[in-house]
Order: sequence, then structure tokens, then C-alpha cells
Amino acid sequence: MPIRTCVGCRAEREKAELIRLVSHEGRVVVDYHAKLPGRAAYLCPKLACIKEAMKRGRLARALKAEGPLEYGDLPERIAEAIEAQLRALLGLAAKAGKVVSGWNSVRANEKRLALVLVAADASESVRERFAGASQLWLTKEELGRAIGKPPRSLVGLLDGQLAGRIARELERYHGVHAGDRDLLR
Ligand SMILES: [Zn+2]
Repeated sequence: MPIRTCVGCRAEREKAELIRLVSHEGRVVVDYHAKLPGRAAYLCPKLACIKEAMKRGRLARALKAEGPLEYGDLPERIAEAIEAQLRALLGLAAKAGKVVSGWNSVRANEKRLALVLVAADASESVRERFAGASQLWLTKEELGRAIGKPPRSLVGLLDGQLAGRIARELERYHGVHAGDRDLLR
């Protein structure tokens, strides 16, 4: 596995664990699926690393940018890339029959679920009942749409490879939001 260094904290990690950035016409581009050509810089999916890299032109140096580099709303764009991937994985999981949703189905299948996701605007009683679940930033409507359903407060993932990938994206998302769901909104 290739190893890269995070521009923020300087830690060496497996390339697949880091977020790839490239520069294009003086702007930092989030290359989430590592498809774009050119010199790249890498960041841990953590807000502290992103902010550190934006300081004092460290990212510009890592990207060997000629002239000033526009970071813009980089933390937000990274969060959006993670969110897009999460929605895509939820869609795949739904197509693969690995998703149950809604109060009754999630409760009935609870023991078989690897992961339970709770919408940001779920009711207090749902939040309390699933206090140990992953509290999302997606609304009921967004969560339902991701799995091709009407609005859903609860989505459960049956154990398997996709549940693992979704858990990884959730960890990234929470890392970029540094525990504050509304920070980047
Ligand atoms: Zn880092």
C-alpha cells in the first residue's frame, strides 16, 4: 500500500486513508476518487489537519502552485465530497437489499444490523431509543431519498462490506466536522 504524508499533521498514512487534493487554475480541487492528473497533496479527513494545511501556504507549497492558491471553502467542499460518497454507498446498499428503514423494520431487524443511522430531524423519542446509533446531519427527506424511499428517520444497514464502507465514510464525515454537525453548514 503506498504511503503519503498529511500536509496538516505530517503523519504518514496509507494513501487510501487520506483525501487527495490537486490544484487547477489557481484553485484547490478535492479529488476524492483520486482520478485527476497532476501533482497531489494529501490530508487526513480531520478538520484540524485541513485548517493546519491552509495556514501559511503549506498546501500551496505541497502542490508546488505557481502564484497564490485559492482555498475557498475547502473544509466544506471536503465534507460535501464525503457526503456525496455516503449517499452513493447508501444507494448501492439499498439496491443490494442491505438496507432496512423506518421504525418498525429497524426494530424488527435490530440484531442483524451492523449500523443504524438517525436523521438530523428525527423525533426526540427516536433519538433516545437509538442513542448509540450514528446521529446524522442528513434530514429525514435526504436520508429517504438516498435509499429511494419517502422521508425516513431511521435507516439500518445489514452486516456486510457496504456497511463497513459506510461506517468508514461516517467516521470521515464526523472527523471533518470535528464533532459539530452544524459547523460547516
Ligand atoms: Zn493529518
